[in-house]
Amino acid sequence: MRTLQDFDLNTAQGRYQARKFGFEIPKRSPGVKQPDFWSLIDKKGPNDCWNWRGTFNAYGYGQRKQNGIPMMAHRLAYQLTTGENIQGLIAMHVCDNPACCNPNHLRFGSHADNQKDKFLKNRQAKGEKNGSSILTEEQVLEARSKYKSRIVTYKMLAQEYGVSKDTMQKAIRNIHWKHICDAPQK
Ligand SMILES: [Zn+2]
Repeated sequence: MRTLQDFDLNTAQGRYQARKFGFEIPKRSPGVKQPDFWSLIDKKGPNDCWNWRGTFNAYGYGQRKQNGIPMMAHRLAYQLTTGENIQGLIAMHVCDNPACCNPNHLRFGSHADNQKDKFLKNRQAKGEKNGSSILTEEQVLEARSKYKSRIVTYKMLAQEYGVSKDTMQKAIRNIHWKHICDAPQK
């Protein structure tokens, strides 16, 4: 596994190679003097949020435009700090502060990890607090994956979880539980 340190980012060749390995390397724009990337981050202690002071996208994430290509500031900060290849991975802010660029506050994972994280954060707020919920969110997810295997019917699952067939059918078909899978991407 190559890390960012393996490439000489001061040369066009090194930057090209790093990009080929999937690193997000901003293109250089000769002639246009941009403020240094790190000067736009309000760097504090290792456990504090490091807020971005540049421009933001519509979702509240720091944005750094390089040759017309918008980059996410927190991703860039993480990659430049750790040298890890985060191509294709989803960033999760453990601090829930999208402006934060502190690599210590970022976790990277798959889309499924991200959904799970959202789910754990939301579960107290939604679903289970709703008086009409009989199934827990874990049960709904579990039942859904069982149903997808096409071995069991709504009725069988309803019996297994001790709810009515109608409740199970609605849960699996996403009617009352839309927020589990369809949480809007921040
Ligand atoms: Zn933070």
